[in-house]
Amino acid sequence: MKILVINAGSSSLKYRLFDMDDASVMTGGVLERIGEASAVWTHTIFIQGNKKKLVRKQEIKNHKIGLYLVAGQIVDPETGVIDDIAQIDAIGHRVVQGGEAFGSAILIDHAVKQAIRDNNPLAPLHNPPNLIGIEVAEELFPGIPNIAIFDTEFHQTMPPKAFLYALPHEYYTQFKIRRYGFHGTSHKYISRQAAKLLGKNIDDVNLITIHLGNGCSICAVEKGKCKDTSMGMTPLAGIMMGTRTGDIDPAIIGYLLKHTHMSIKELDTVLNKKSGLKGICGLNDMRDIHEAAEKGNRKAALAVDMFCYQVKKYIGAYAAVLGNLDAVIFTAGIGENDDIVRAKACENLSFLGIKIDPEKNRLKQSRPFAIHARDSRVQVWVIPANEELQIAKEVMQIVR
Ligand code: ADP
Repeated sequence: MKILVINAGSSSLKYRLFDMDDASVMTGGVLERIGEASAVWTHTIFIQGNKKKLVRKQEIKNHKIGLYLVAGQIVDPETGVIDDIAQIDAIGHRVVQGGEAFGSAILIDHAVKQAIRDNNPLAPLHNPPNLIGIEVAEELFPGIPNIAIFDTEFHQTMPPKAFLYALPHEYYTQFKIRRYGFHGTSHKYISRQAAKLLGKNIDDVNLITIHLGNGCSICAVEKGKCKDTSMGMTPLAGIMMGTRTGDIDPAIIGYLLKHTHMSIKELDTVLNKKSGLKGICGLNDMRDIHEAAEKGNRKAALAVDMFCYQVKKYIGAYAAVLGNLDAVIFTAGIGENDDIVRAKACENLSFLGIKIDPEKNRLKQSRPFAIHARDSRVQVWVIPANEELQIAKEVMQIVR
């Protein structure tokens, strides 16, 4: 079975074609800067363990033209991987905000599209381009089923005590203000991988899953299900991120609006784009921050310290939430590659049964690897993120 996974952002489109007979990637890529004078299109073909990468710069006016180009590339007589688009059995679409309407992946029809649209106010930057991706796929590939997979879905198992904010209750009923959580597909994927690695059934594992990329979120997973998560109504909440604040005292917003000349839009830009690691040291890529810190840049060292401290606080909090913890899992760009962050975030946690082996932690691997010490009661793993594969798996469950 061949499944195409599409992740449409406001000016980008990521795609990956899987052969689900052996869960292998046939081809994939990303179109960036759609709508600008020169878009960048990176397309990779995987043939028998080898990779071939094509990079092009050309104008791509909109997502429709982008997806049309991708379709042509996939069936190209020379570099294509299938003969005919009709060989694709289904298309999975990442949709960021499903609200409370969706507790699982769903076949897209008119009502589903309307429900996604209804959730636009909760994710104004994400849901509209996700919907464009769906509509373009429907138009270009008629007859191929489209399935929506929601970032928020995995977190729908949170109990009210975890998802409600202590605001007047009618704000929840009237405006749907609550914690939704994001990166759900990633947390779900690594939870399932972790259960396999631990040799346990997914219903028997308690985990803290830590996704540290440009966006960062942490999840308390009880018996395979999300019990709490750090992101909130929007992906701005939780720990500090590359450019996002994470949790701050909400009164700061009113204070800044009163004492500066910033508009709400400007403040929103500060909170989302000029804060986090970047706000503290002017850099948002963790590799650059380490480099600067090594050269004696104190603000860069402080940014790393703050980041690790916040991750550690969530580990402590979620260990308390779960009571019994089997494993801590790190994933995504920082989680997979940054041994300094992992070590600092888990430092002095042996009272919780968490102890990292410094040598194992320094290893670089592209597959899952354990980094806990021999006498660590809780296992600690690094598991590479693969949200696209999780999406393809969910699509299979619907179209099989
Ligand atoms: P996204 O959330 O956009 O998918 P990624 O998961 O790719 O992002 O993570 C991007 C982050 O990962 C950046 O902060 C980058 O600095 C960091 N990163 C990538 N490789 C390394 C590395 N070798 N060491 C430390 N950080 C890394």
